[in-house]
Amino acid sequence: MTETLGSRGEAEPILLGCIADDFTGATDLASMLADRGMRTIQLIGLPEGGQRLRDVDAAVVALKSRAAPAAWAVEQSCRALEWLLGAGARQIFFKYCSTFDSTDQGNIGPVACALLERIGESFTIACPAFPANGRTVYRGHLFVGDALLSESGMERHPLNPMTDSNLVRVLGRQVKEAVDLVPYETVERGSEAISWRFAALRDERVRYAIVDALCDRHLLAIGAACADLRLVTGGSGVAMGLPDNFRARGLLSTGAQAPSLGRAGGFAAVLAGSCSSATLQQVSYMQETGAAGFAIDPLRILREDVAEAALGWALPRLSEAPVMIYASAGAAQVARVQERLGRERAGYMIEQVMAQIARRLVEAGVRRMLVAGGETAGAVVQALGVRALRIGASIDPGVPWTKSLGEPAVFLALKSGNFGSVDFFVKAFRMLQ
Ligand code: ADP
Repeated sequence: MTETLGSRGEAEPILLGCIADDFTGATDLASMLADRGMRTIQLIGLPEGGQRLRDVDAAVVALKSRAAPAAWAVEQSCRALEWLLGAGARQIFFKYCSTFDSTDQGNIGPVACALLERIGESFTIACPAFPANGRTVYRGHLFVGDALLSESGMERHPLNPMTDSNLVRVLGRQVKEAVDLVPYETVERGSEAISWRFAALRDERVRYAIVDALCDRHLLAIGAACADLRLVTGGSGVAMGLPDNFRARGLLSTGAQAPSLGRAGGFAAVLAGSCSSATLQQVSYMQETGAAGFAIDPLRILREDVAEAALGWALPRLSEAPVMIYASAGAAQVARVQERLGRERAGYMIEQVMAQIARRLVEAGVRRMLVAGGETAGAVVQALGVRALRIGASIDPGVPWTKSLGEPAVFLALKSGNFGSVDFFVKAFRMLQ
């Protein structure tokens, strides 16, 4: 049966509605929820129309609002909120980066403030901690590995330099209302102690609590303490504890493992448009296993139809084994291309070629596709007209198999360039067998 967003039939209210400020962050969160047994879909951009969701416990709306002007981010987030409330969400999660990417103008504070107001609530938490990825919060200070945020390299970020590691101060500059801390000692005592601290802060008219967290046990305790908060904000780490709250109330019947996406058929392909070192190694590894590969030469795009050439190579091979088409190249080659074509123009042209190839491969019967590169994945998803993905088991942390909703259903793994182990492509296809 085909799944669509506006499908007819019995609509069931969702449990958790999530708003993520970028695409890969949304996938990261969706994967965290799916791996803990929530039937999760990721919506690409603001959903339109139909709110009839079936077999969905959590919906994650992926916005592109992290670096946008604050007013636009607020407006988009509020529209996402309306949609999620319309779909029945009992709790809302606002997801941002675990390095708290923001400026004094926003967007974390202004968006959290607008969401609280619309929901009619007066208190929420802000917890970007993600210990598995080295992000911890102690005494309100965010650490990246062993370094304070402000000494981690993030102080030189081109869009949102993070020069202050004290999140109570950082968030305090973004909002008018009071910001305070749930300190480590409280978190260490467990969820009941955290809940008491929440109540005390509410009484003191504090609206936002930064919460210390050094390990997953802390995140689980914080998650449990958030059971009655209508709005929770943070990195994907703190969402770890939320599924069990619904389970404890008998609302989530599924077990604590990723829901199955069903059987995958059709042909298989890899499209690699990332030049990051992880992807370069993954492309080489795939070739070492004997897989056929076609290298896109960006300098030929101006002179000839490179997409046609790639398809002419790939289509006759589809029935044999997964095909791989890649633009991925080392730094020297990328520099040569960028010198000739310009950095942005080169990137855009290659993305468009990849998008065209993806569309034609799906027309030819490819139903399992791996895409390497954040921007590349965005272009492919747009070309395929995909508006929503159902989330399956993770291949590597933060990169799940997904299945597009709508016709034809395509199994997609969308990998940010630097993610995944060296055998990622091989491992991913093996998982579907
Ligand atoms: P990542 O997730 O690693 O950042 P992206 O897909 O987001 O990967 O970005 C990589 C960018 O580099 C894309 O715009 C892509 O089109 C471009 N690109 C890919 N191959 C080459 C190449 N050989 N030369 C120049 N640019 C390239």
